[in-house]
Formats: sequence, structure tokens, C-alpha cells
Amino acid sequence: NDQRILEYRIMPYGDQHLLLLIRDVTKLTQIEKMRKDFVANVSHELRTPLTVINGYLETLPGATNISEAFLAKAFDEMRAQSTRMQCLIEELLVLSRIEASNERATENIVDVPQILNTIKLEADTLNDAKQHTITMEIDPELRVYGVETELRSAFSNLLFNAIHYTQEKGQIHLQWKLIDQQATYLVTDNGYGIEAKHLGRLTERFYRVDKARSRKTGGSGLGLSIVKHVLNHHNSRLRIKSKVGEGSEFSFAFSPELSVKP
Ligand code: ADP
Repeated sequence: NDQRILEYRIMPYGDQHLLLLIRDVTKLTQIEKMRKDFVANVSHELRTPLTVINGYLETLPGATNISEAFLAKAFDEMRAQSTRMQCLIEELLVLSRIEASNERATENIVDVPQILNTIKLEADTLNDAKQHTITMEIDPELRVYGVETELRSAFSNLLFNAIHYTQEKGQIHLQWKLIDQQATYLVTDNGYGIEAKHLGRLTERFYRVDKARSRKTGGSGLGLSIVKHVLNHHNSRLRIKSKVGEGSEFSFAFSPELSVKP
């Protein structure tokens, strides 16, 4: 995709000459397109739940012969949709905070094993319905320099995704260990897997392989783009290996300078 977008302008230059101005607007055009896509995506994501809520608000008042069961379902649905909007807005705020943050990622030592243990407790609740076997292999002494809130969100996003995108009674394995002097986090699942053509785009905002499946899990499509920004901030990169029908491995590693092991 090396095509450039050029803008031409011809202006008189003195009596006998014309001046041809060529401006390369490739980057500008791309940024503008991303901005437009983003606004369109956010609007769409908010409009869908609002349509559901408004539908009920318009039909319920004044309606007669409404059964208790229908009313209960209507309230459940409205509650679910409003929670969905709330989560989306929360995630947008997290994303914009991380993008704007200039906090030095290397200032504090973060107790990763402790974070992973709390995340595991949250994961257990989420896992109630799915009944996966979640195993952990954590080096209890391994810590990193970083920003705790950001890292917590990167660690939990990958684990929660593994839970969401694996069919019931799956196997999820989480590792936190030193590999080649680099503190490394790996989450492996034997879930749905992802086709190779999607891998490069997963960290784009709102990119989902299967929208319906992601919606069902309450996903906003922002999780992996949050992870990407957090990792950028810590000089690291998300690595993804996956095979459809076999499972996925999401991982990242911190440079030896950021890895702390007594
Ligand atoms: P979402 O809120 O949709 O989960 P994410 O940004 O976290 O958004 O993930 C983007 C997409 O990547 C998901 O919609 C899903 O299609 C895919 N994905 C993420 N993690 C996994 C995984 N462990 N296995 C299979 N697909 C995954």
C-alpha cells in the first residue's frame, strides 16, 4: 500500500509562468479517515443500545395488559444495554487517558504476581458460566517497572478474552516468567482461534472478528487496542499466535531493564 495521495495547485507566477504546487497529503488523509471512522464507530456503538432502551420507553408507558414476565424482561434488557454503554464509555476514557498519559512507565516497581492473583479471582467469577480449567504458572518473585493501573488492564484483558473466546470447558493457561531475561506474560487457550488475515488488525479500535460473538460477551472491541497502547508505553509489543479451531496464544515481554528478579 505505497500509494501516495497528492494534491496539485497551479498558480500564476509573474506574467509568463505558472507555478505548480504538489503537496503529499497521504498522512493527513489517513488521519482524517481514522478520525471519521472512530466517530462513526462510537456513534454506532452507542446508538444500538439507545435504540433498544428507547423502544421500551416508548411502548411501555400507557400500555395495557403487560405481563409481569414481559416487564421483568424489559427491565433486564434496558439494564443490560445501559451497562453496555457504561462499559464502552469507561473503556473510551481509559483509552484516551493512556494515549494522553506522559507518566514515565519506568518509575515504579509493580508487584505483578499480586495483580495476577486478584485478576484470577475476578476471572473465576467470569468463568462460572464457562467452566474452563484455568491453570497458572507464576514466578512469585518476578516484577517489572511500570504503571500499575495500565498493566492490570493489559493482564486482565488477555485473560478475560481467553475466557470469552473459548468454548465451554476449555483449557486456559497463564504464565508469568523470565524468558531470556525478559519478564514475559503468556495466555494460552484452546478456544475458537483466529484466522491469520485478522491478526494484524486485532488491536485496531472496534475491530472484532465476529461482531455477534463479541457483543454476546459484552465486548466493545476496544480491549486489545487498550493493551496495545499500554504496551507501547512500556516499550513492549503484543504477540499473537493462533489457529482456527485450535486456540490462541497472546503474549508480551518486558525488556531486561524493566524486568525485576531478585
Ligand atoms: P472485544 O471487546 O470484542 O473482546 P478486543 O479488542 O478485546 O475486543 O478483541 C478484539 C477481537 O479479537 C475480539 O472481538 C475477538 O474476535 C478477537 N479475540 C481476542 N482475543 C481472542 C482469543 N483469545 N481467541 C479468539 N479470538 C480473540
